[in-house]
Amino acid sequence: MSLNFDSLFDDVELDFNCPECEFSFEVSIKELSKANNIITCPNCNVDIKVQHDASLDKLLSRCLIFIFEILYLI
Ligand SMILES: [Zn+2]
Repeated sequence: MSLNFDSLFDDVELDFNCPECEFSFEVSIKELSKANNIITCPNCNVDIKVQHDASLDKLLSRCLIFIFEILYLI
């Protein structure tokens, strides 16, 4: 069995709240990296620069724990 780390991260979606209109929407990590950490609010079309903040770090570390658990089960 082989693990595809890229596809694992593709499935992860982050919740965002637009600072302009407070519309909440989801962006996948894949889209985020493709867009160079700049996302566009689907409601008001404002560009939002995504900071690599603590919540993203927390989410990524949760993914790493998930990967570790899969490896452990194998
Ligand atoms: Zn907005």
